[in-house]
Amino acid sequence: MPSVRMNVQEFAHLLDQLYREKTIAESTWCGRCGYNLRTRPYIGVCPECGHRYNAVPMRMQNIFVPHDVPLPYAEVFSSLVSLGLTFALLRGAAAGVSASQLVFGGMFALLGLLFGWRAWVGLRAYRRHRDVIRRIESESEE
Ligand SMILES: [Zn+2]
Repeated sequence: MPSVRMNVQEFAHLLDQLYREKTIAESTWCGRCGYNLRTRPYIGVCPECGHRYNAVPMRMQNIFVPHDVPLPYAEVFSSLVSLGLTFALLRGAAAGVSASQLVFGGMFALLGLLFGWRAWVGLRAYRRHRDVIRRIESESEE
């Protein structure tokens, strides 16, 4: 009995081929800027922000998918606590209290930067997603 075996990449490639000549019939938005890609090809480049997208079902790359993007509360809190500890420890060390305070101050400074970076990345993702939602909502009211 012949068996048809196909891996994920072959299947994705086959899907792309099936949709290559078709255009998107319903409202589908760029995941980056919220541009409505309706009447555009299923695979292409967003005419507004230049981001590559693939709107083929089950592919959906750089296509807006509504989901909850949480505010990075934990990261913001952790970075503030770390930087607060850094400040407290380094201030003590500067006054000549101990070398271990300097070491711990440095460690908390690194942690603060790490959490701060994660908070920044999370906030940017949150803002971008919210901006796309706003754009889609405002354009659907027209
Ligand atoms: Zn775009």
